[in-house]
Amino acid sequence: MKDQLLTRFLRYVAIPSQSDARATQVPSSKGQWDMARHLQQELEALGCTEIHLSEHCCLTAKLPRTEGVSPDTPAVGFCAHLDTVDVNLSPEIHPQVVRHYDGGVITLNADKQVFLDPAEHPEVLAYQGDDIVVTDGTSVLGADDKAALTAIMEALTTLAKGDTPHGDIYVAFVPDEEIGLRGSKALELDRFPVAYAYTLDSCEIGEVVYETFNAGSGLLTVHGVSAHPMSAKGVLVNPILVAVDFITMFNRLETPENTDGTDGYVWMEGISGNAGTATVTMNIRDHHRDRYEQRKDYIRQATELLRKRHPRAKIELELTDVYANIKDAVTDDNHAAIDHVYEAMKRLGITPKTMSMRGGTDGSYLSSQGLLTPNFFTGGHNFHSVCEFLPLGSLEKAYEMVLTVIELVRDEKKQ
Ligand SMILES: [Zn+2]
Repeated sequence: MKDQLLTRFLRYVAIPSQSDARATQVPSSKGQWDMARHLQQELEALGCTEIHLSEHCCLTAKLPRTEGVSPDTPAVGFCAHLDTVDVNLSPEIHPQVVRHYDGGVITLNADKQVFLDPAEHPEVLAYQGDDIVVTDGTSVLGADDKAALTAIMEALTTLAKGDTPHGDIYVAFVPDEEIGLRGSKALELDRFPVAYAYTLDSCEIGEVVYETFNAGSGLLTVHGVSAHPMSAKGVLVNPILVAVDFITMFNRLETPENTDGTDGYVWMEGISGNAGTATVTMNIRDHHRDRYEQRKDYIRQATELLRKRHPRAKIELELTDVYANIKDAVTDDNHAAIDHVYEAMKRLGITPKTMSMRGGTDGSYLSSQGLLTPNFFTGGHNFHSVCEFLPLGSLEKAYEMVLTVIELVRDEKKQ
């Protein structure tokens, strides 16, 4: 199975599909259409039904339940993203396979002197004896998230042979996850009618994530009063100074660079201005819903205070919720979705590593829409870097996880 998975993975990463944060349309790049159309053909060949590629490049399909399985069996979904991240590296991916890794330094690129050195990346030592897929030192590997596409598509291929009974299975492959979950926001949820779903979009074997940030963005706009400096006294209101006053009202210890674990923050991530107008953009993040709301309240209060201090400036504030903590979507009816992940790991001899993610996944957006979507590992390491690597043994476990979760869903007792 490892070689089958490898062949599929190499096929997927050979299709460049970086997303482009500067684009305004979804999908943000042509390569994601290529990736989606390729997968669409594979889903057709498997005999999937309800195959749909939307105008926003969201690919959905169903593998219908096998005969004899109760129609009461919950439908389960698997979600992965089509894009790879743009971190100023080559969009073309030329992976290399290290067979039976011996624990030494891996030369990724001799010309450019790029290495995967266990002295800097001791995590690689856990995979001695395994086959490892690495980059050529010029790009990411794209295991984020093509290892997920590989595990899910290989599992569907196994099930399509018809030897293992299963309920209805849906897939949703979406673009532009890396540039703000834009693809999952464009997903038509009635084409993904499942009781709950899973994303495979996290790193090393064992990782489980169903706690993510609540996330919002803020935009403060200050309109000042401009005047010629020779006659500005008592007239001019400098919007840049008003914006700076706003920023100084925030706790400098509650910032991304000063927090970790489940401590939240407000990140002042952009400021621009001229004599007439200044804007401040900010990101609000907190795992705890109440503290997240308190942070938004504080921003509103700070804005009020700013208005009092600068009565002649016109100050506007816009706060937008972007995604939510997956955990808040867990209910009595759907908690089985979480239980299945741990039970599957137990059956497969995998030690779970439950993580609070300081970020979000497509599942954070879907969960905020009421569709509980926890996340588990792809098996890869060092996402978003030239040192990204994928041990094939871990990818195989990700594939087995998909199959085992599907079995557990099939055997789920209706409440
Ligand atoms: Zn990802």
